[in-house]
Amino acid sequence: MNIATRPSAPDIAGLDLEACSRGLFIGGAWLAGHGPHPIPVVDPSTEAVVAHVANADLTDAAAAVDAASKAAPGWAATAPRKRSEILRRCFELITERAEMLAKLISLENGKALRDARGEVAYAAEFFRWNAEEAVRIVGDFGLAPAGANRIIVEHHPIGICVLITPWNFPAAMATRKIAPALAAGCTVVLKPATETPLTAYALAALYKEAGVPDGVVNVITTSSPGPVVSAMLADRRVRKLSFTGSTSVGRTLLAEASKTVLSCSMELGGNAPLIVFDDADLDIAIEGAMVAKMRNAGEACTAANRLYVQSGIYDRFVAALTDRMEGLAIGPGTDPVTECGPMITAKAANKIDALVKDAVGRGAKVQCGGAKPAGIGFFYPPTVLTGVPADAEMTHEEIFGPVAAITRFDTEDEVIAKANDTEYGLAAYVFTKDIGRGLKVSRRIEAGMVALNRGLVSDPAAPFGGMKQSGLGREGGSHGVLEFTEPQYVAVTL
Ligand code: NAP
Repeated sequence: MNIATRPSAPDIAGLDLEACSRGLFIGGAWLAGHGPHPIPVVDPSTEAVVAHVANADLTDAAAAVDAASKAAPGWAATAPRKRSEILRRCFELITERAEMLAKLISLENGKALRDARGEVAYAAEFFRWNAEEAVRIVGDFGLAPAGANRIIVEHHPIGICVLITPWNFPAAMATRKIAPALAAGCTVVLKPATETPLTAYALAALYKEAGVPDGVVNVITTSSPGPVVSAMLADRRVRKLSFTGSTSVGRTLLAEASKTVLSCSMELGGNAPLIVFDDADLDIAIEGAMVAKMRNAGEACTAANRLYVQSGIYDRFVAALTDRMEGLAIGPGTDPVTECGPMITAKAANKIDALVKDAVGRGAKVQCGGAKPAGIGFFYPPTVLTGVPADAEMTHEEIFGPVAAITRFDTEDEVIAKANDTEYGLAAYVFTKDIGRGLKVSRRIEAGMVALNRGLVSDPAAPFGGMKQSGLGREGGSHGVLEFTEPQYVAVTL
């Protein structure tokens, strides 16, 4: 293991942490929360508390929905071109402040600065893409088949949206929802993850600066997500829930949302297979596997959770991947040389440790890593396991960490059956020089997104989302904005 500089004081020059801790962002103002105590924000690299943010209770949640409700008619009536220009300004400001935002993400999330920089660019792109979409939300016009009337279809803003986001992409998961919601003419209340609220508040200030009217975007943090979110979902003015997080919380929220028959978009957990066929280009497969496994130190819903490698290339793949994983520099996210930062919490690092111990107990072999280091920070080393059996817990659960679990396979049918043997269906990766075979295999894999000969699948211009219990609906592409609209059809005799 190559530990860079851990632990050390984080480099937070240029970060105004107090500005991110001014209060809840409601109706364009920074307000004190009425929750029991401020919420501490911890740097996972040093375990130090770096800031506190406001804590919302039910009255604050109601105030946020009030603010969104008050702003809704004006924003829905704002010309699409004007909305588009404000979104474009958000893109420009995020891009201008990219380095500050990346440092903030690294500080509160722990991810390596290079990953944080990538996230900021990705987060900004949702504003650029949706600035372009805002002026292209077109409906339909046609003659009814019976010839008696015309059919006019218009896409209206769906209304007030509650947006809930996880800690693993504190900027991008929020902008992936806020930008299309605003493009569609909706107002929103965002509840970011408790571990990573600073980025959400820093972005809120930036939206205001970009000209987003007061009340169009509201941000609240709370130590009681269950009651606070339930209260907002029960408010009849709220018409949309867009959630990104675990499948288990997603199931709970779907049940909550059923009470008011809310429109739901759910971006949930994954268990991505990564398949390497004998005829794959080894260098491309290793490069792709490193990205698919190690972006965000494995803390990604799209992370390759199960690596299936065909017998003919297996030994060479294992040796090359182990070599790359062993060479990664571990350290605080804010340190520019770091390639693998800490996990988000001690609980997350312990869970990874337990999954590795379970797999080893069932016969998996450790090629590198495999033991949680003692000391400060929630670190887990890059780990390669081979011969991971089908009954290992990590075959069925998200590892959400820097552990590559490799299994050998022989035939195409065998690996497709293994790949699909999961309740999840978010992402998959396929490596083969035979593109025809790659496309054929992609179609047989039950996943909303397949990366063919590459390790990165996310793209603001493409529909991101999962099949099976990985979710409902799509974010990004031309689909993303429509999740925040309600089609209305008018039958008219002309
Ligand atoms: P999580 O525990 O489900 O939390 C996600 C969000 O839900 C957080 O804001 C959390 O607030 C909130 N929450 C938790 N319990 C709630 C409740 N009872 N009612 C209302 N809200 C509640 O997930 P996570 O650990 O933050 O994120 C990791 C998971 O997200 C993984 O499963 C990953 O695969 C998934 N993910 C999916 C995608 C995708 O696009 N499909 C993208 C990224 C991540 P608190 O922080 O206050 O608990």
